[in-house]
Amino acid sequence: MQNRLDDLRGPAKAKRHNARTIAALTGNPGCSRRAVLDAAGVDKLKLADRLGFPGSFGQSRFALSRGNAFEAMLKADDCELLRSVLGASASLAYQDLGADSLGDRHAETERVLAHAHAALIDHPLLTLEVAGQTVYLEPDLVAYAHQGRLQVVEIKSFAIVDDQADSAKVSAAAVQAAVYVLALRDLLTRLGKDPDLVSHNVVLVCPENFSLNPKAVVLDVRKQMSTLRRQLSRLASVSSLIEALPPGVSFDVTLEPLHLVEALGHVEARYAPECLSACELSVYCRHEASGGTAALGRTVREALGGIESVEEVLALAEGRQEPTEEQAESAALLRAALRLRAEALS
Ligand code: SF4
Repeated sequence: MQNRLDDLRGPAKAKRHNARTIAALTGNPGCSRRAVLDAAGVDKLKLADRLGFPGSFGQSRFALSRGNAFEAMLKADDCELLRSVLGASASLAYQDLGADSLGDRHAETERVLAHAHAALIDHPLLTLEVAGQTVYLEPDLVAYAHQGRLQVVEIKSFAIVDDQADSAKVSAAAVQAAVYVLALRDLLTRLGKDPDLVSHNVVLVCPENFSLNPKAVVLDVRKQMSTLRRQLSRLASVSSLIEALPPGVSFDVTLEPLHLVEALGHVEARYAPECLSACELSVYCRHEASGGTAALGRTVREALGGIESVEEVLALAEGRQEPTEEQAESAALLRAALRLRAEALS
């Protein structure tokens, strides 16, 4: 299987997952195209570029530097400010594992967690198995041993204003923190310890209002963890999708765009507007799906089950097309909606 995945990707180095890309898997769990490309380690950003559909993906430079400054401020002087926002005692031990190489940091993280006493553990390096690959996770967080339980602390730079924050950003942070909880639980299991020592409640620390004053909120990520588990087991079983691909299909980003478009056509995509914030290939998939009802979002797709194109929707609404038996209910609703719209406009 690994040879086939390497062939699909071509000579490029496999793109490794990180917590953000693993979290993004939950954005569109039904998409076979993403599952295959991710399993093969294809660089989707380069692929989108090669296809002529680059997206503006990732954090802006401003958001990145604001995030780094906020994190540095919280962690200065052995996490003095972070301690106060977490309500942790000044005498709580602080261990920074950040200076070593990846392998050493991972070994050190295992050693520290094997003998976890109450401590703030900065820059731990965790691993998670994703589609048969070991993915290193370099959290910008502190694992916090508190009252005998390990708690993930996720530092984000988006603001909490009047106790409210952007819900999309909070849910993305919750999924990312859930990735860390899963990785920490796996690690404890490997160490022969009880994985439930890792709390499913994570602490999100953000700037409050328009200042850099930190505010901590606790999020329960059990739901995100079960979605992630489902997605990861699905990724582990992409072999049947890969075996079904015709020989010679390749997503090598040095190929001509025409060949790449043809190759992508062999793997079913399920474009939804949510892809725009979760997948590097979204601008291409949106273009490919334009004119289809699926491009208008899941609610529309489900409400118009069995009607694939916008053209067909209009024809049914205007009575230019006779509905099939399965389309009869949707067609009646569409005709009623068109009538109401005409009445409202007149
Ligand atoms: S953008 Fe395309 S490949 Fe990515 S998840 Fe959406 S449909 Fe799948």
